[in-house]
This record gives sequence, C-alpha cells and structure tokens, in this order.
Amino acid sequence: MNELLGKKALVTGGSRGIGAATAVALAERGADVAITYHSSADAAASVVKEIEALGRRGFAYAVDSGDAVAVGDGVRRAAESLGGLDILVNNAGVGAIAPITDLTLEDVDRVIAVNVRGAYAAAQAAVPRLSDGGRMIHLGSCVTGRVPGPGMTLYAMSKSAMTGLSTSLARELGPRGITSNIVHPGPIDTDMNPADGPFAAAQLTNLALPRFGTSAEVAAAITYLAGPNATYITGTALTIDGGHTA
Ligand code: NDP
Repeated sequence: MNELLGKKALVTGGSRGIGAATAVALAERGADVAITYHSSADAAASVVKEIEALGRRGFAYAVDSGDAVAVGDGVRRAAESLGGLDILVNNAGVGAIAPITDLTLEDVDRVIAVNVRGAYAAAQAAVPRLSDGGRMIHLGSCVTGRVPGPGMTLYAMSKSAMTGLSTSLARELGPRGITSNIVHPGPIDTDMNPADGPFAAAQLTNLALPRFGTSAEVAAAITYLAGPNATYITGTALTIDGGHTA
C-alpha cells in the first residue's frame, strides 16, 4: 500500500465526501496530502488528523473555489508546504438541481465560478508546479453522459466543461508525462447527495446496481489514476456510477 510513497498531492474540497475519502486514500498509499475546503474547518482538521495518523504530512487551507485568485494562492501555498506537487485532484464542487426557469443568473455565476472557473484556476496554478510524470484527476459526473431527468441543466453544463478541461490538459501536458483524466461518479452517498435524500429514490431507478455508491469507491478509482499502474492512461474518463450510464 505504499505505491504513492513520497508523492505530494492536493485535493480541492477535501473536508467532506469524495474529497475527504480521496485525501485519506492517497495518504494510505503513502502520499503527503494537502486539502482545501470552504467552511468546514473542523471536518478539514479531522481529515488532516487522519492523514497524520497514517504517518503522512497533512495540510488544510480555507480556500473558496469560487474565488479564482484565492485558488491560485491556495495551490501555491499547498505546493510550498508539501515541497512540490505530483497529484492534483480537482474535486471541489457544488450541486444545483432545479428547473431552468427557477435558477437565477446569480446561481449560474456561482456554480460556474466554483465548478468550472475554480477548477480551471487550480489546474492553471498546478501546471508549473507539477512534477514531470504528475497526475491531474478532475471530478465530472455521470450526468454528463446521460441526464436521467429534469432539473440538471446548470449542474450538467458545469460538469460537462470539466471534460473539455481534462482532455485538453492531457494534450497540453503529455510532453511532460503528466496525465489528465476525469472521473464520473454516479449517485454517491455524501452530504451533496444523501442516499436518504429527496432525490434518492428517483436516482435508484436508473442504476444497474440498485444502491448508492460510497465515497471510498470513487476514491479507489482516483487513487488508481494517481498510481503507478495508470501511467499510460490520459485524456479519458473513468465512470463509477453503478451502471447509471449503461
Ligand atoms: P460534498 O458536498 O459532500 O463535499 C463537497 C466538498 O467540496 C467539501 O469538502 C466542501 O468544503 C468543498 N467545497 C464546496 N464548495 C467549495 C468552495 N466554494 N470552495 C472550496 N471547497 C468547496 O460533495 P461530494 O463529495 O458529493 O462531491 C465531490 C465532487 O464530486 C463534486 O465536484 C461533485 O460535483 C462531484 N460529484 C458528486 C456526486 C455525488 O453523487 N455525490 C455525483 C457526481 C459528481 P466544505 O466542507 O468546507 O463545505
């Protein structure tokens, strides 16, 4: 389990859910890990404690992904604390499920700022700091492949942008041996999408595996893409959606 020993990773939005599980999974495999978060300082501190309990270095920074300047500064601070950067997991994101006529332009600005602009800024700041052979893993969504019902316009639009970011970065960073891939989770039981939430029953009807996934199941895919067995995988997508798209 030490395949990432000596690697330095940054996970945006690492205080809860998929990001927290990914940060711990990377540390379990040997990496030192920095996370960013928006407002959950206690949860972020707990994740850092878990990382440190595994014998790795952990750091947490309060960085609003909706503020692109702050995101760049957060990447810089994380790389300085870690002493370099090998892995960026572009995970921070917000949901927005409502009919298009109910969503305001302020909603659009906020979702695009966090899910798209913030992810772009994190990637941009990471590029000059990432080691050759490094990894970028971006969080998309199964709704970029198949929209199961109404209410997804803004969220699906924002997550579809991540595909363009990921594939283009694969082309741009390939000469340095840096890979860029996107992970598309299906319904994952987190605060964003609880398995007992109001939209849960409808989501279950779309799945081949009739259950929500766990953050650990997505983290396993992300750590695979960050690890030594994924050196020739770039510009592609890994879908962990219980068959949502099937
Ligand atoms: P959660 O809501 O459970 O956790 C979100 C994490 O992102 C938290 O750590 C939160 O920090 C952080 N975050 C949110 N907004 C910001 C911000 N403005 N700046 C910095 N950090 C922020 O989400 P999930 O774990 O469920 O989702 C993680 C990613 O996976 C997202 O990109 C999401 O779109 C995607 N995804 C999730 C699916 C699901 O079913 N759960 C399905 C498909 C994709 P804080 O704790 O401080 O608020």
